[in-house]
Amino acid sequence: MKKGMILLLSAVLMISMTACSSQDDSNTSAIYTAGTYTGSSAGHSGDVMVEAVFSDSAIEAVKIDASNETESYGGAAVEELTTQFLDAQSADIDGVTGATETSEAAKRAMQQAIDQALGTQKETAELTDGTYTAKASSYGTKGQMEGEVTIEDGKIKDIVITSESDSQTGQWFGVAQEKLIPRIIEAQSLGVDSITGATTSSGAIKSIVSQAIEQAGGNPDDWYGKVEKASDKVTLEGYDVIVVGLGGSGILSYAAAADEGAAVFGIEAAGEIGGNSVSTYGPMVVNSKNLNELYNNGENNIDADEVYQTWIDYVESEEKADVIYRTVYENGEIMDYYMDNFDFSFDGKAFGGESGFLPSFVKPEWDKEWIVFTADEDNTKWYDLGPDKLWQFQNALDKAKAMNEKNDYMVELTADELIFDEDGNVVGVHAVYHDGTEYEIYGKTVILATGGFLGNDEMMEEVFGSTIHAIGDTVNKGTGIEMGLSAGGTTYALDTLPMTHISQIPNLIKDDSLTADEKTVLTSMALTTDVSALKEDGSFYQNLDDTGTSEGDSSELTVGIVYAPGFHYYNIYSQEDIDNIRTNGLSETQAASAPIALTSGGTVQAGEPIETIDHIMEVGIETKNVYKGTASELAEQLGMDKETTIASLGDDETVYYLVECAGYAYGTVGGLDVDVNCNVLREDGTPIENLFAVGQDSEGVENVGGKPYTPWAGQAQMWMFVSGKIAGETAANVALNN
Ligand SMILES: Cc1cc2nc3c(=O)[nH]c(=O)nc-3n(C[C@H](O)[C@H](O)[C@H](O)COP(=O)(O)OP(=O)(O)OC[C@H]3O[C@@H](n4cnc5c(N)ncnc54)[C@H](O)[C@@H]3O)c2cc1C
Repeated sequence: MKKGMILLLSAVLMISMTACSSQDDSNTSAIYTAGTYTGSSAGHSGDVMVEAVFSDSAIEAVKIDASNETESYGGAAVEELTTQFLDAQSADIDGVTGATETSEAAKRAMQQAIDQALGTQKETAELTDGTYTAKASSYGTKGQMEGEVTIEDGKIKDIVITSESDSQTGQWFGVAQEKLIPRIIEAQSLGVDSITGATTSSGAIKSIVSQAIEQAGGNPDDWYGKVEKASDKVTLEGYDVIVVGLGGSGILSYAAAADEGAAVFGIEAAGEIGGNSVSTYGPMVVNSKNLNELYNNGENNIDADEVYQTWIDYVESEEKADVIYRTVYENGEIMDYYMDNFDFSFDGKAFGGESGFLPSFVKPEWDKEWIVFTADEDNTKWYDLGPDKLWQFQNALDKAKAMNEKNDYMVELTADELIFDEDGNVVGVHAVYHDGTEYEIYGKTVILATGGFLGNDEMMEEVFGSTIHAIGDTVNKGTGIEMGLSAGGTTYALDTLPMTHISQIPNLIKDDSLTADEKTVLTSMALTTDVSALKEDGSFYQNLDDTGTSEGDSSELTVGIVYAPGFHYYNIYSQEDIDNIRTNGLSETQAASAPIALTSGGTVQAGEPIETIDHIMEVGIETKNVYKGTASELAEQLGMDKETTIASLGDDETVYYLVECAGYAYGTVGGLDVDVNCNVLREDGTPIENLFAVGQDSEGVENVGGKPYTPWAGQAQMWMFVSGKIAGETAANVALNN
């Protein structure tokens, strides 16, 4: 590293200052050496490349390649970033909310291109030794991540995270901490890839280091040195069953296959096993002997015939009646199998209730329908929604791995395609390790368990016409579904609506610009169902008259379930409403409108004056959670239809506040079409005999396109257990008999 502060020749400084202010000056003299220049820098999950065309006085065109980025984190931001660069004629832009890492990478890359066009030479500043503290917003919503970075001899010597705020991220943060920190220190670069499955925590750690570099007198942009990737190729052969994805259904398949005597290999993209499945309450259960003995005096917990009939009625079709039948009538036995053989356990203390079973969301008469996982090995911990069920799945996987010497699995290994022989038969899986090493893994059968397509924005747009905010895993990008299609498989009820039980403001405020209580006020105003609301086109989602009677198509307007177009809507407040909140506080309904997760940790009481409501609205506007204006101004800001918005709001003079409420999804539901053995089906209905799909990669078979997934509770994990057992066992038998 060279010594000295960043040196920009003074003449160049003058020139670049001219460049910033030159936009409107038609007599501008030459600033740049005209031409096309490129830059590149590490973004969220890969390099972001910028190619910029310069005339001698302006940036004429910008092309950003963020194809390595996760769509939901950055890919989608490209258009807006391009516009911002061209408008600003500079790399100094605001960036795109929700795509911070991509924006920052694009800014660094753009600056490199500008420097080349200016002909400037930079020297890297030396860092001043010391220990620096910084904070950054991470996944947690109750506070920011805080850390200390020690710089010694001008190098990053140590990174210690001193506080991380949210129990729900405990596991993911732990993986980022364990894997990312040593990699940054070893590479002396922030250009190392974020840890798959822990990208938000990884981004926060990088931000803390970046801030520390700045405090030490450096320029963080100089710390994104390229990290070389391996180009090795590894071949693994002789497996009976390959499981792609080691979330819940993958692990349960792995376990059942190993138990049958198969040699099994598991491929997991994230830095940790478990996927969505370790962040849940638990599965629906129909008559498990063990659980009935433990929690229901040995009595059946539910009438299986009634469950079966209700299910068939809900999906309005007998097309998959055989699959639904097996699920309902074999579920109890399958739960017992995993409890007896792989030590799964469930908790009698959930939500403080004495019975182990919980009632259904929508069928109160099913009062013992759902069960939650035991939260810790001693069964002493209070149950919490969050990834604290990992130990149960890790234990099952360890036990299954030990059943056969050849059994193995790898994390940070991302499967991307199936391998076929010359006759088109599936013979293995191609995957890439985080360091770039390519793997070809050969086996007789493959089980697809990649957890649906919530993280694939393109596919979400195609299927639903819109993306949705994610609380579930965005590692799950539909790879399993795409693999199944590549083998000739077809899909079933792919457009079953995503599992959405949480709503919140769209851009969670994680810094201290509002107190926790103020954040709660904003959330309550977004989630409440006692005000009228607009859809994204400006028409009413709900139009409440003075008596609170609703007109509009808000039949699903229930806290937590946002099935409005685009999975979001806007609650309407007039200035009078805001003044009323300042003086008289929120209504009972508003104050009670709390999300079941992603909370700020604050509280709000109905009827208590909210003196800081103007400040809350201001921060809401800054963070793009609240929009203020007349009907046509709002239509302009939000891309609504102007006439429709004016008609909904009644005139174009009155100023309104629109507070956005967005759905957050656990995951998608529809996937590959499978038969009663979880074999992937071709369009003609014939099975691909050595290819299986489980969990969210095939959950559509129990559902119906265009509707929410079956609205009792725990259906997803019920299918996870059932499909995991059936596919694991069948795949092992197909392999061992061939
Ligand atoms: C917060 C939360 C709460 C929930 N609560 C409940 C509940 O109480 N009851 C219920 O029934 N359901 C619940 N669900 C839904 C339920 O968790 C899931 O539907 C179910 O567990 C899905 O299991 P899965 O194996 O299909 O997916 P996952 O468990 O997500 O597993 C998929 C795995 O595949 C990996 N993967 C993805 N792509 C690749 C690739 N290319 N290569 C290798 N690996 C890959 C992922 O990293 C992941 O580990 C909840 C979900 C969330 C997020």
